[in-house]
Amino acid sequence: MTTTRFAPSPTGYIHVGNLRTALMNYLIAAKSGGTFILRIDDTDPERSKEEYVDGIKQDLEWLGLHWDRIERQSQRLDRYAEAADKLREMGRFYEAFETPTELDLKRKKQLNMGMPPVYDRAALSLSEAEKDALRAERGSGVWRFKLDQERIEWKDGILGDISIDAASVSDPVLIKADGQVLYTIASVVDDTEMGVTHVVRGSDHVTNTATQIQIIEALGGTVPSFAHHSLLTGPQGESLSKRLGTLALRDLREQGVQPMALLSLMARLGSSDPVELRTEMAELIEGFDLDHFGAAPTKFDVQDLFPLTAKYLQGLPFEAVQARIAALGVPEDLALHFWAVTRENITTLHDLDGWWEMFRDGAEPVIDDEDRAFVAEALALLPEGPYDGDSWGNWTAAVKEATGRKGRGLFMPLRKALTGQAHGPDMAQVLPLLQKIKAKN
Ligand code: GLU
Repeated sequence: MTTTRFAPSPTGYIHVGNLRTALMNYLIAAKSGGTFILRIDDTDPERSKEEYVDGIKQDLEWLGLHWDRIERQSQRLDRYAEAADKLREMGRFYEAFETPTELDLKRKKQLNMGMPPVYDRAALSLSEAEKDALRAERGSGVWRFKLDQERIEWKDGILGDISIDAASVSDPVLIKADGQVLYTIASVVDDTEMGVTHVVRGSDHVTNTATQIQIIEALGGTVPSFAHHSLLTGPQGESLSKRLGTLALRDLREQGVQPMALLSLMARLGSSDPVELRTEMAELIEGFDLDHFGAAPTKFDVQDLFPLTAKYLQGLPFEAVQARIAALGVPEDLALHFWAVTRENITTLHDLDGWWEMFRDGAEPVIDDEDRAFVAEALALLPEGPYDGDSWGNWTAAVKEATGRKGRGLFMPLRKALTGQAHGPDMAQVLPLLQKIKAKN
């Protein structure tokens, strides 16, 4: 039975970067009929905020990424304390008292000597009396996990065979001096106790994975399958880390991006499969294969979301937008026709507002000087509305007859006079929607 989890820290809203993690874990579980857990990593009481917990849930619901179970780390602190005791008993956990400044100094020295900045384990050789003295002077220390200095290996679902020399990694701090449990151990305890079988996360977690594998083994748990997806970059390959804040899902939603457009892009970006618009979650699930993802950084361009959104909207039945169109104030008898005319001429649903405004109030006419007399003559021949599907044909036939103009010379000045634009939907379809013709008055 497959069990995956998405484990955001509620210190901000979900952005396109962590959406990828959420989606991959969701799709893996869904594809095999397994369980998808939403795990809130809120062991940091300072930085975790309830508004972000709510925000994360809203964003996942908007996307349709439904979780089967929700867990909160802040409610499981006793489990982590138990695991810490176990590690202590095994001699795999030790207290260290260096201040951040001291650690920094050690790192600088090592780097100067061309050595990797790995914690030197000085605390391991402290006697009980020395520890007592340090504790009296500085308060409690941090607790570090004592890594076995051997190679840590796993077959990564995306990166392939990974081998990391534990000697090149500092013994990780699992509990802070103030007693706060850190993510590294909390995550391991949860993954083990919740029966997580597959963990997909960003490649910034590769070193964590190495240390977590040893902690899982020490605690007697089963090591899940790990896969690390590449990090997103901007369209030019530039780092996105600073811009991710502006790529929050709620901002994209405000901009009118449709969930299926976003999911369709993110489910394929960075894989060998082409990006194709999917309109149903079931199709996304069916077409997802983690094996097709590569290790190279993945370029993300927010602009790609808009053509996909437009395509998604084009395919929507009237019923799906009926309420939204009614809310604009479009009269009921025009609503279906309004949608038929606008659906292929919008990028997001927000564009409907502008279209209706134009039909309701009339557009500012655009009339070139050389067409002024012609347009005036034509408008005099236009009967009062309302118009129907034949009105445009009848009118332009009459204008042609009266003026002798034809083709583009006939139609373009009229389109521009009525809509203010040189392009747009078929005028025969547009005319019945026009509630006002500014050029005529
Ligand atoms: N809370 C961690 C993060 O957001 C979870 C990482 C993981 O998936 O294990 O980075």
